[in-house]
Amino acid sequence: MSHLSTALSVAFLLAAFASPARAAVNVVTTTEGLAAVVREVGGDDVKVIALSRGVQDPHFVDANPSLAVKLRNADLLVDVGMDLEIGWLPPLVTQSRNAAIQPGGARRLTAGNFVSPMDLPTGPVDRSQGDIHPSGNPHFLTDPRRAVQVAAAIAGRLAEIDPGNAAHYRERLQAFQGKVAAAGKGWKERLAPFAGRSVITQHKTLTYLLDWSGLKAAGYMEPKQGVAPPPSHVASLVAVAKAAGVKGVLVENYYDRRPADQLRDLAGVKVIVIPGDVGGTKEASDWVSYVDVLVKALGQAVQ
Ligand SMILES: [Zn+2]
Repeated sequence: MSHLSTALSVAFLLAAFASPARAAVNVVTTTEGLAAVVREVGGDDVKVIALSRGVQDPHFVDANPSLAVKLRNADLLVDVGMDLEIGWLPPLVTQSRNAAIQPGGARRLTAGNFVSPMDLPTGPVDRSQGDIHPSGNPHFLTDPRRAVQVAAAIAGRLAEIDPGNAAHYRERLQAFQGKVAAAGKGWKERLAPFAGRSVITQHKTLTYLLDWSGLKAAGYMEPKQGVAPPPSHVASLVAVAKAAGVKGVLVENYYDRRPADQLRDLAGVKVIVIPGDVGGTKEASDWVSYVDVLVKALGQAVQ
């Protein structure tokens, strides 16, 4: 080997040691919606995996032990909170033996702690009676206002965990805020002509988005949140739909749509099947495109 090539080899080795491949922050989220927001603010400084799929009901995920393995080396666990994952996340977090991601841990971020809840129960709630929203409505991530608040909390925590890239997280947060504002302007324009009109939804998944857009829910297919609609309840919704001038029922694609079809037959309303989260359909590939699908569905449901 010549002196020159030896010198070059040494130079390459030194360069390799001087700038080792930087490890991305390992983020695990409970839902694909949260993963999508982490991707927006984390970019290529993070690696993100979600424990559930967008085609699944996030209240009822199978707590498969393989999910605990994914949590073992997580640098950050982002969950929704407000009891959304109470049926499946706590055992996985315990099994992971990752002390920092336990509730209140330095590497745990519960998004629900950073937004104001809607649908807070005014009296005592007994979960045994089937209501799965005893701590308020956990479906806040489709609300452009609250999505930006959650993104800011995630960006702040990523900057603490990975201070060398703090400026990147800040810049990407600003870019996401800009994207949400621009998309939100279009969504408001699309739905403004229908302000005050009502829809029926299967579950209270769209409450925050309806509130943001000036639309209303006249009723819900579920008699209690988490309880499948019995025929008597479907029959009672016929009068509700007629009184409120409801033209459409929105049902997430992980629910049985037959009760909504019965209401369609009884009350002459449309049934519109929607994704329940990012990844719930092919079109809903990131946060903006998911909410865009929902806004289009709402536009169909009110006319
Ligand atoms: Zn729910």
